[in-house]
Amino acid sequence: MESNKKNGYELPLIIIDKDYNITDINQKAEEIYGNIKGNKCYRALNNYQSPCYEETSFVCPINVINQSGNSQYTGLYTFNRIPSEYVLVTAKKKGDLYVQKHRILSRNNFDIPDFKKILDFLAEGIVILNEKGKIKFINKKFMEIFSITEDPDLFLDKDISYLKNQMPEGIREMFSKSDGIKSDEEYPVHYNNSYLIVKKTNLEGKYTLWSFLERKETDLSDEIFRVLLETTPVGIFLQCSGRFMYVNPTLASILETFPGNLIGSSIYNFVHPEDRKTVEMIAKKREKGERSTEKYVIRVITEKNKIKWVEITSETIIFRGKNCGIGSVVDITERKKLEENLRRLATVDQLTGIYNRYSFEKFLEKEIERAERYGENFALIMFDIDNFKQINDIYGHQVGDKVLEEVVNVVKNHIRKSDIFARWGGEEFMILVPIKEKSDAYKIAEKIRKNIQNFNFDKIDRLTVSLGISFYKNGDSMKSMIRRADTALYEAKRTGKNKTVVAD
Ligand code: GH3
Ligand code: MG
Ligand code: MG
Repeated sequence: MESNKKNGYELPLIIIDKDYNITDINQKAEEIYGNIKGNKCYRALNNYQSPCYEETSFVCPINVINQSGNSQYTGLYTFNRIPSEYVLVTAKKKGDLYVQKHRILSRNNFDIPDFKKILDFLAEGIVILNEKGKIKFINKKFMEIFSITEDPDLFLDKDISYLKNQMPEGIREMFSKSDGIKSDEEYPVHYNNSYLIVKKTNLEGKYTLWSFLERKETDLSDEIFRVLLETTPVGIFLQCSGRFMYVNPTLASILETFPGNLIGSSIYNFVHPEDRKTVEMIAKKREKGERSTEKYVIRVITEKNKIKWVEITSETIIFRGKNCGIGSVVDITERKKLEENLRRLATVDQLTGIYNRYSFEKFLEKEIERAERYGENFALIMFDIDNFKQINDIYGHQVGDKVLEEVVNVVKNHIRKSDIFARWGGEEFMILVPIKEKSDAYKIAEKIRKNIQNFNFDKIDRLTVSLGISFYKNGDSMKSMIRRADTALYEAKRTGKNKTVVAD
């Protein structure tokens, strides 16, 4: 550098602020890169759209400086702005600004001693191999990272395998599967309780430059955290004062939109009106700074107006001095549907859709309790289709099934909402009817009988039913009531069918 200055040369200088804006450049930098002042450095130099996400350590010395805690860093870079050149970048933090000194090296100058000296100053370990895999150069940092104490010149023109036993297995594997390692991509390898970021660069097809950068565990955990947030199947949000401050892509996709659409918007835009109170209550707790873990299930309305069920777990955190809520969101719509189906399966008869025997017994139990307590009257109407076996025998089981459905529809049209109608089994049914007078039940039974008798069933000629009625009596149990209705029904069958018999 000294000699450059003496000869009237100056190195390109670029000054960058913490937001990656180029605030100033010297004349030499302008000669080489053009007037890039005022632009973002990553865009101006490399055409990247964002500041070094994947190439954290290699493109942006700013990131390396901030992550390492050192105020200076030297690294070897390639810039799209000057594609055929290699640039040695020294970056220094000065207050809020970063001063970058660029020294442009031609890639075909690898043999010059000067260049090798420079590589020895780098913070990353470097080994350069020729196309036959022979070692052409190893820098000091490389020796240091892998605790190689021999003279580096000993390895010159040797096969890479000479170095292999000094390196961890993960890295040896990379050398042996070198063709599968993508150029200029970062590969983290666990080493010495920490990490090495390994990168391969092809130099004009002649040489392969491998670089090894030691990375602190915390640098990596930041990155892991970011990757986790963006790839987890769980939606994640941060909300302050009822507005989204952060949402991960999964939450956006649950809500059928994009993160950009959600940030800054009110969380209530997506909460189902009937669940708004739940969310408001929890948000209030958060604002007051109450520290509790809340787990709740609510409905959300997506951007495409779809209703989804979600399970949310949230906590209070202090973010930028404010009490905010952070939480995870799991889409449980499918689980809800399944639960609903299971519940229906457990209470409803699959063929006819009316209550099954199990739920009828529950209703009857409750009704008996009520009758005991409040003296309410009710009747049990039990009915059975006459000669149903014949229908199956003549027309087949499928027609039989259809008839059962039709019978249910006819009956449904002649009972009230407060009556409980259930399939007791086979072609036997039960109706629980609250009544004032005993004659009420008889009237309903007869109405059902006549309507079925007159109904024009599909395919079959004539269909009748026989009915038995029992009334609640003091001290009745479920069993005794059913037994009386069953006996009455049997009596109706025995004395000619198509009739209603009332138990005494
Ligand atoms: P009764 O007048 O004495 O009641 O004569 P029935 O033929 O109706 O009486 P039975 O109890 O002997 O026969 C009932 C028949 O109902 C027997 C069975 O095959 C049929 N069955 C029971 N459940 C179903 C069903 O879910 N679908 C169909 N298609 N048939 C059923
Ligand atoms: Mg029958
Ligand atoms: Mg029967």
